Amino acid sequence: MKLPTTGKPHEELLAEMRAQQGDDADWHSGKIWSLVYFAGDDVAEVLKEAYTTFLYTNGLSVAAFKSLRKFESEVIAMTAELLGSSEAVGNMTSGGTESILMAIKTARDMARDQRPGLTEPEMVLPVTAHPAFEKGAHYFGVKPVHIPVRDDFRADVEAAKAAITDNTVLIVGSALCYPYGTIDPIPELAALAQERGIGCHVDACVGGFLLPFLARLGYKLPPWDFSVPGVTSISADLHKYGYAARGSSTVLYRSKEIRRYQFFTYADWPGGLYGSPTMAGSRPGGAIAAAWAVLNYLGEDGYLRLARTVMDTARKLIDGINAIDGLHVIGEPDASIFSFTADAVDIYAVADAMDTRGWQLDRQQMPPKLHLVVTPAHEKIVGTFLADLEWATQSVATDGPTPGGRAAMYGMLGSLPDRGAVEKVIMDFMDRATEPKQEDPMAGLPGRTDGGSVKS
Ligand SMILES: *Cc1c(COP(=O)(O)O)cnc(C)c1O
Repeated sequence: MKLPTTGKPHEELLAEMRAQQGDDADWHSGKIWSLVYFAGDDVAEVLKEAYTTFLYTNGLSVAAFKSLRKFESEVIAMTAELLGSSEAVGNMTSGGTESILMAIKTARDMARDQRPGLTEPEMVLPVTAHPAFEKGAHYFGVKPVHIPVRDDFRADVEAAKAAITDNTVLIVGSALCYPYGTIDPIPELAALAQERGIGCHVDACVGGFLLPFLARLGYKLPPWDFSVPGVTSISADLHKYGYAARGSSTVLYRSKEIRRYQFFTYADWPGGLYGSPTMAGSRPGGAIAAAWAVLNYLGEDGYLRLARTVMDTARKLIDGINAIDGLHVIGEPDASIFSFTADAVDIYAVADAMDTRGWQLDRQQMPPKLHLVVTPAHEKIVGTFLADLEWATQSVATDGPTPGGRAAMYGMLGSLPDRGAVEKVIMDFMDRATEPKQEDPMAGLPGRTDGGSVKS
């Protein structure tokens, strides 16, 4: 495979690319349960036009692109207000992972500044925290110290207290945590952080643009945002329940003093004075513009309407799953993401049976479970999904697992004591994922693909 000697015509190319989409996950009709947050064709049109109008712009220089400066600062101001503070400051990033990386770096650098003897910074986080924290710990030389969750799948505060040392720079909680859709006890975690003068990050990547509207709709939720004393930073993804274009998230800090530890500056480059607020250098203006557009297009009433749809749909799915003989939802999710498992049959075999009807369910582990992120796209498929799920559960009980399914492999990979060996399997997958001539990118593989990485 090499660059074609001569270019191809526009129409021919696009036809070829559209044909490729035939093998992609069918997100438009709600067949997948993560990765895509689709709020309708009207929102899609707004995003497309906003994105392409600013296609060539670069958020690296908000001096050159004053439009982007306006959009980003207004997106952050609107987000701050939603997250319980009119004082909070922040930046847009490319996604939840970058937001979390920035929060870890910021907490580490602030602690280093305030405690010059600190050489081995640590971060206390529940086992349910997103892997982006492990990634950040790895990149920034911060030791992750894991704490368990209680029987209700929320962080164990006593364990957090016991895990804090003189080296701790950050305590992490999630609102919502991805595996179970629960909100960690943020006031208690933040109080521990405040007593010691260290950071407390709330990962609201998936909850940040949903929970504020649930509160307005009257749902009873525990406090989790900047209204909680001691919370120093929050990540909230625009490209999840903000319904913005992929590649947009926010990271916010309680004060400007804290955020300055996020920034990078370099004054000695022959190429000029350099300053960059986040990990990225060049930043896609299209993503910034599209985020500003969707916030203004939907407005509070639009987000309230979508939040109601999502919650009503989640309720029907939760009740429907619990009503299927042999299945149950795990714990008590605080919003619209949750997991479920089977009492007597292999839940991964149920997922394989669902595959045969075109559904793509995310397999989770520890314990084996399937996971749903409910979006507006799922409103219309509740009935067929539940009917197929009942069929799948019964068919596994009577006929056993689907021949050629992946249940045995998932079971093995989830329970193998040697996690290093499992990580090697994931490495091999990522190696294969960029080979141009590959028959089945999923061959021999544990998880669904998520931008080239593996979710298991
Ligand atoms: C999605 C998610 C992230 C990571 O976000 P990306 O945009 O995929 O990088 C972090 N935390 C939680 C709770 C999430 O749901």
